[in-house]
Amino acid sequence: MSAPQSFFEFTLPELRDHLQSLGKEAFRSQQLFRWVYQMRVDDFEQMTNLSKAFRQELPQLLDLSLPRVLTEAVSSDGTRKFLFDVGDGQSVESVLIPSKDRLTLCVSSEVGCNMACKFCYTAKQKLKRRLSAGEIVGQFLAVADRLPPEQRITNIVFMGMGEPLDNPDAVFKSIEILHSPWGVGFSKRKVTVSTSGIVPLIPRVTQAGVRLAVSLNGVNDEVRSRIMPINKRWPIAELLQACRQHADESGDRVTLEYVLLKDVTDSIEDARALHRLTRSLPCKINIIPFNEHPNSGFLRPSEARIARFQEELMRLGAHVLRRKTMGRDIYAACGQLTTAPIQTPIAL
Ligand code: SAH
Repeated sequence: MSAPQSFFEFTLPELRDHLQSLGKEAFRSQQLFRWVYQMRVDDFEQMTNLSKAFRQELPQLLDLSLPRVLTEAVSSDGTRKFLFDVGDGQSVESVLIPSKDRLTLCVSSEVGCNMACKFCYTAKQKLKRRLSAGEIVGQFLAVADRLPPEQRITNIVFMGMGEPLDNPDAVFKSIEILHSPWGVGFSKRKVTVSTSGIVPLIPRVTQAGVRLAVSLNGVNDEVRSRIMPINKRWPIAELLQACRQHADESGDRVTLEYVLLKDVTDSIEDARALHRLTRSLPCKINIIPFNEHPNSGFLRPSEARIARFQEELMRLGAHVLRRKTMGRDIYAACGQLTTAPIQTPIAL
């Protein structure tokens, strides 16, 4: 007898095929999805519309366990960071970010990352492995299970550890599973996939019907290639062309993330160049002041400089928002996620 397979790896059609191959009725898959995702019952014995014999057989076929939470940290601003054990000695982080009318879950797609962006902490931990769809779904459910009844996750962003488009099959499958009307029924309009710029896979974001965010971070190929090596493979013009195509086909604005690194990407000329590059693209610009981490070699610009950059873009008519720094005291802010052991507390 083979080991039970994780329930969370299956889409509804896949579960139906799997059960049929075991000689079970197809509609059992809907029943199971409802019990597990909608009622959050994690014990087959309690699934009372299934026969007793089937209930007893199920634990040998399907495993309902979620990634285990190793630690949880709570920031003074309410942001919560979870460290998950994903087996084989590996772990990933997810961050839950409250705001006025949203509760956003930032999920990881990989343990570590191979994109080697110079300013990102996760990049220091090279890619250990890609997560499975079930491990991504598992981050969502494990966090959702811990919320009080009056709270629910309203948005999912693939902005945690890893490059989602380096692991597209698992990422898009996890979105299908969470979107299933027999499952969580999570709206695709509330899901954002962020990429460092794997251009040939951007059309898959469009096909999946979710929102696209792109980490632009540089306004010319010289600077961008220096801080994001992936730019050597797919330079800015190609990346923005792919963004334009996504915007045309989806009718959606693309979010462009732009990290402000002191004296590298934060000048007024950079703000103007950013505007020139993006003014014909339906987009919103999300500026992210650099979050410091040990030995990064980069600095966060002063508040005055950050404000000047943002104001210049506003003056030029760009749709620009400053991403509020959340969870910096617990190392949960953008670009601070890692599961490597060095985690010195930071003075704010
Ligand atoms: N790999 C994907 C998903 C990660 S999203 C991507 O690159 O889009 C993480 C975001 O945080 C990216 O926009 C990245 O540019 C930004 N970031 C990385 N390190 C940062 C840091 N130290 N401070 C602020 N933002 C950072």
